[in-house]
Amino acid sequence: MSSLPQCPLCSSAFTYEDGGMYVCPECAHEWSQGGEENTDAARIVRDSNGNVLQDGDTVTVIKDLKIKGSSSVLKVGTKVKNIRLIEGDHDIDCKIDGIGAMQLKSEFVKKA
Ligand SMILES: [Zn+2]
Repeated sequence: MSSLPQCPLCSSAFTYEDGGMYVCPECAHEWSQGGEENTDAARIVRDSNGNVLQDGDTVTVIKDLKIKGSSSVLKVGTKVKNIRLIEGDHDIDCKIDGIGAMQLKSEFVKKA
């Protein structure tokens, strides 16, 4: 018996086959059989130069960004360490010295 792969999104072991696709009952993810092994979600976040960003990367802000709910501005050239990629319109979650936790758009940063 061949065992079914775990869901690449939520690691559920309850995957089943349906018409040539694998289906995860827990998060409703479907993916095709025999495809490349995607251990992570197929989501790729790129910086303003098209470089692929990963969790833990350090990036530099490429333009002044207004900080939501505050009058301060995140200055161009600010280094942001240890980013975390997230889902959404703002796809980078990070903590910036002197500012605190905030979210950035990958199009406004470049890999340091
Ligand atoms: Zn799943």
